[in-house]
Amino acid sequence: MIFDVDVIVVGAGPAGLLLTGDLAEAGVSCALLERRTERSGLTRAFTVHARTLEELDARGMADELVALGTPLPELRLFASAALDLSRLPSRFPYLLITPQYKTEQVLEERATRMGADIRYGSEVTGLTQHPDGVEVKVRQDGNPDRVVRAGWIVGTDGMRSTVRQALGMPFPGRPVVRSVMLAEVRLTQPPPSAFTVDSTGDTFALIAPFGDGFYRVIAWARCDEPSQDAPVSLDEVSEVTRRAIGSDYGMHDPRWMSRFHSDERQVPRYRDGLVLLAGDAAHVHSPAGGQGMNTSIQDAANLGWKLAATVQGWAPPGLLDTYQAERHAVGQQVLRNSGALLRIALKPSPALVGARNLLALAVTRIPFLAKRLAGAISGVGISYPAPPGAHPLAGKRVADLRLADGRRLYEALRGGRFLLAGGPGTFPADVATGYHDRVEATPIAHASSTVALIRPDAYIAWAATGNTVTAPQIRDCLAHWCGSPAHPAAQTAGR
Ligand SMILES: Cc1cc2nc3c(=O)[nH]c(=O)nc-3n(C[C@H](O)[C@H](O)[C@H](O)COP(=O)(O)OP(=O)(O)OC[C@H]3O[C@@H](n4cnc5c(N)ncnc54)[C@H](O)[C@@H]3O)c2cc1C
Repeated sequence: MIFDVDVIVVGAGPAGLLLTGDLAEAGVSCALLERRTERSGLTRAFTVHARTLEELDARGMADELVALGTPLPELRLFASAALDLSRLPSRFPYLLITPQYKTEQVLEERATRMGADIRYGSEVTGLTQHPDGVEVKVRQDGNPDRVVRAGWIVGTDGMRSTVRQALGMPFPGRPVVRSVMLAEVRLTQPPPSAFTVDSTGDTFALIAPFGDGFYRVIAWARCDEPSQDAPVSLDEVSEVTRRAIGSDYGMHDPRWMSRFHSDERQVPRYRDGLVLLAGDAAHVHSPAGGQGMNTSIQDAANLGWKLAATVQGWAPPGLLDTYQAERHAVGQQVLRNSGALLRIALKPSPALVGARNLLALAVTRIPFLAKRLAGAISGVGISYPAPPGAHPLAGKRVADLRLADGRRLYEALRGGRFLLAGGPGTFPADVATGYHDRVEATPIAHASSTVALIRPDAYIAWAATGNTVTAPQIRDCLAHWCGSPAHPAAQTAGR
């Protein structure tokens, strides 16, 4: 089959935009097809967690996004329980409140800078897989469908994914909460704490500032669950908020109000032949903990470099399948955690609310438990399975170490390449000869006997410690992860 492009990405939400930016940067020919005719102006997600900001930092976008939001160093749970995020071992020890459309704007601008081909007004209506490629039917401006051919297709087309449905892939799960009201309002009197949340067992409400004078309000009442299409009134949001938190803080001037239902679902496989799924197309869950957009962006960060390596022909055997092994497991965990948080927030009977609040207080005050919870919610605690006998660092998220040349490690990752990093003198300067397009070798600033190969998505691929590390061992590791030196198909990348 003759391809029009190597990869078609369907859906310009956060997952599709990050993925397309990474593919374009790696020099892969790809097109991002989006059925909307222009960029979305919807708030939807409003929390960006530390691990997502780290992934954006590794692409030079985090500081720009942080400047557009409000950082909150603690996540309030119930009553007086608050999870301290200020001790996260991250450059971003907080959660960032910012509307989803601003995150998408930053992602899209970066993808465009990388030369991405983003086609608005292009709806995918179906696809056919062949052994050597995929044919995708695309409808533009109401014209008859035309066929575009690609080697690979990635469905980042959201919860009702056409790509997933065209594969006939099941999306098993169930509804978890009905008729939650969302509003963006001004307040006459700001709440005493930046992030206010509470529930009585019959009601739940949350208020968080966007930093532009508007606040996101989420409100839910057990006995009042009209259909998703029923209009929302400000009076209804105020009344439920008063019942849950004790005040509506004088909410007025709503600029947007909506109502949503939430399901918990996950596809069994993130890959079917030459078709991959990422983001909400692969998993949806409760909004508790603000995980949806974050998990979607991190799916894309995991997939981009693996798909680029596969298209360019230097991927080690089985690399692309590690996307399923790593991200399906994370998705499963997110479904479990956000489901548990939601049930704890919404479902206890009024009689159990006191016990729930006490438990939340205990969890946030016991350092070991608080650290685990903060790691899970922020994403900083995510790590991937490593083969038996691997170094304990393999599969772990890499810390933002200072390098000998003064850069931070996450700045060095902005080239989109692997990083071979270690204490001064742990490897010869020319150890990565022939890999310049895929690997940067650089010593770190402080003394250490550890050498690590860091993946483009800032997880540790391989590590070794001690005087036993030899240059041939490092060359073997490079050959395993990055193909043969000076592979003709590898193209010069540069984030
Ligand atoms: C009200 C609300 C509040 C939320 N709050 C949070 C939060 O606080 N934190 C959080 O992390 N997450 C939150 N989420 C979830 C978050 O919005 C999603 O998880 C996130 O948008 C998923 O990103 P995505 O790129 O996978 O898909 P989407 O953002 O859904 O993007 C999919 C894109 O595909 C396009 N598309 C669909 N079908 C086609 C087709 N056939 N052809 C071409 N294009 C197509 C769509 O137009 C869309 O642009 C919230 C969601 C909602 C609805």
